[in-house]
Amino acid sequence: MNISTHTEENRQREKIALLSRSLYERGLTAGSSGNISVRLDDGWLLTPTNACLGHLDPARIAKMDWEGKLLAGDPPSKEAFLHRSMYEVRSSAGAIVHLHSTHSAAVSCMSGLDCESCMPPLTPYFVMKIGRLPLVPYYRPGDQALAGAIGALAAKHSAVLLSNHGPVVSGSSLEAAIYASEELEETAKLFLLLRNTPTNCLNSAQIAELKTVFKLDL
Ligand code: ZN
Repeated sequence: MNISTHTEENRQREKIALLSRSLYERGLTAGSSGNISVRLDDGWLLTPTNACLGHLDPARIAKMDWEGKLLAGDPPSKEAFLHRSMYEVRSSAGAIVHLHSTHSAAVSCMSGLDCESCMPPLTPYFVMKIGRLPLVPYYRPGDQALAGAIGALAAKHSAVLLSNHGPVVSGSSLEAAIYASEELEETAKLFLLLRNTPTNCLNSAQIAELKTVFKLDL
């Protein structure tokens, strides 16, 4: 490993710990739930198994190669395969955030959702940061078949919502993935608040305008 790679890895370790703590302190993750990863030039970083995101030691964040071999740090989250399945089909993904954030998780438990787009385009910000959000069917914790289900959707979607579980959100950088996760959680709040209220969603012309002006790949 050359010096600049090492420096970049340490910078990403510090950033994961700092931003994870911020998510924890604002109630976006609780207990030891949620996990965050970053792609490196020579592998990837993932928060450890049974770790609280509020109190991560940067040096103990797991570093793995793409075969899943642990290169440094503590053993990775058992949900590593969720991240890997998304990185495999999204070469543009530089980081992935998976949370059990309350409002997004609440939406993931609702019946009657549109599996191809499970939250409506309530705001331009949701359309710009998430786009269309597909719903992945339910799998028990640890069922590796979930990886295939995520991979099948993630090629076309930067974020997916896992049924009765929570969101998996990718971004070009760690900040981008975190901001998109927060936008998704805020939109889930709006969606739940508006459930019994006649609502104007963005129409197809308004979405098309966003796509053109902001060069979105939705
Ligand atoms: Zn999870």
